[in-house]
Amino acid sequence: MDPQLILPLLRLQETDQEIERIERRLRKIEEERKALLKELEEAEGRLSELENSVEKKRKELKELKEKIEEEERALENTERKLTRVRKDVEYKALLREKSKHEDNILKMSYELDDISGELESLKEEVSREKPKLERRIKDIKEELDDLDYEEKAGKRKLEDLVKQREERCKSVEQSLLNFYEEARKRFENGVIVKVEEEVCTGCGMKVPDVLFSKMLKDKSIEVCPSCGRYIYYKL
Ligand SMILES: [Zn+2]
Repeated sequence: MDPQLILPLLRLQETDQEIERIERRLRKIEEERKALLKELEEAEGRLSELENSVEKKRKELKELKEKIEEEERALENTERKLTRVRKDVEYKALLREKSKHEDNILKMSYELDDISGELESLKEEVSREKPKLERRIKDIKEELDDLDYEEKAGKRKLEDLVKQREERCKSVEQSLLNFYEEARKRFENGVIVKVEEEVCTGCGMKVPDVLFSKMLKDKSIEVCPSCGRYIYYKL
């Protein structure tokens, strides 16, 4: 095969390999974007969960304080009644009521201590976690912007390459082009490949000595007996 015929085909193959490389990268960008969006959603969810948990605990604390105050008012009321009561039965009943209020207040004060403690540790957790989450969210958004930018550039480059491919096809002899278009579906890593250290870089098999000598001598393009790709040593 005449090297002059193969050179335009080699250039077309370079364009195709570049197109494939960019298409692979664009698919990878899409995967990376999905993963980042998922991570962003989780981080934002965690952040609002943390903030809500503090709010919820504050509300719980406030409600309990109000209940205690209510119980304290009820206790004062009972104590006032105790000073006025005459009958023994009523007195005993009021005493029981008083002790019930006192018990409730005591129980709720323990609860109040617990909730205050929980609120404090929640606040600590938030002050520890929030900056980390906010930083990560910011980073993710930047990474997403970078991916958008890279994707746009990749798509523009792809458009140029498609035009370049059309042009390069025109310089390839028709029957060779037909062969190439058919063969590149079978050969993922190139239809025309280099021989390095007497090995076909397409299939990894050694080129027979006689054939290799011929390639050295004539600088010819041959067909690899193992895989059927076009092979060249030097062009
Ligand atoms: Zn081969």
